Amino acid sequence: MERIDRKAESLEPLTSEDKAEFFRRRLLDWWSRNKRRFPWRETTDPYAVLVAEFLLQKTDVGKAEPAYRKLLENYPSVTALAQAEDRDLEAVFRAIGLTYRAQRLKKAAAEIAAKYSGEVPKTAEELLSLPGIGRYMANAVLCFAYGKAVPLIDMPSSRVLIRFFDFKSAKKRAREDKSFWRFAGSLVPQQSPREYNFALLDFAKAVCTPRTPKCDDCPLSWNCSFNQARGKEFTCGN
Ligand code: SF4
Repeated sequence: MERIDRKAESLEPLTSEDKAEFFRRRLLDWWSRNKRRFPWRETTDPYAVLVAEFLLQKTDVGKAEPAYRKLLENYPSVTALAQAEDRDLEAVFRAIGLTYRAQRLKKAAAEIAAKYSGEVPKTAEELLSLPGIGRYMANAVLCFAYGKAVPLIDMPSSRVLIRFFDFKSAKKRAREDKSFWRFAGSLVPQQSPREYNFALLDFAKAVCTPRTPKCDDCPLSWNCSFNQARGKEFTCGN
């Protein structure tokens, strides 16, 4: 901490390792004062985490919360969910739209009940083999339920990483780039992967927003590549 602060004061450029450490530390520090609280963040129950991730896909968190509570109340286990009546399950999803996810969740639950005795799998390979589960959701379960230090890459989190580190991807979408996933994975701290990934999600939504990022108030701004480039533009313009 001290070493980085001294460099910040003297405006010495940081090594890439220091920059990664700066990013993690400032992000977690910001989050300790700005964390958003949701019921699915208070649990490490793999089933509850899985249900939450199915609901949160393309859904506003405000809408997802009542549906999350209702699903866990009506179907307290993988087995109960696997045996749910389609009509009842779809009614819960109808409140948040995209009812096709009800069937996907039920199919995933049925497969977990049949193949894994109702225990949500602990490996990426097994999770990815389940219906409706992609890399993001598999990693969300691995991180939030099982505490694994894996990255969560979606549009908001990749926006922050690309801007801050000036990551150049050969792919049109960095989140489809394996090297980007590897890079993002190298940043996740072993000691606090849950907090780091929650922090990145909240920070992308509150500070490093798509159109008008709040760079002037950002705790990462001093060492952010995007902000430095922005500064140079203004300087050249003068
Ligand atoms: S300085 Fe601006 S672009 Fe960089 S991380 Fe902060 S909000 Fe995002």
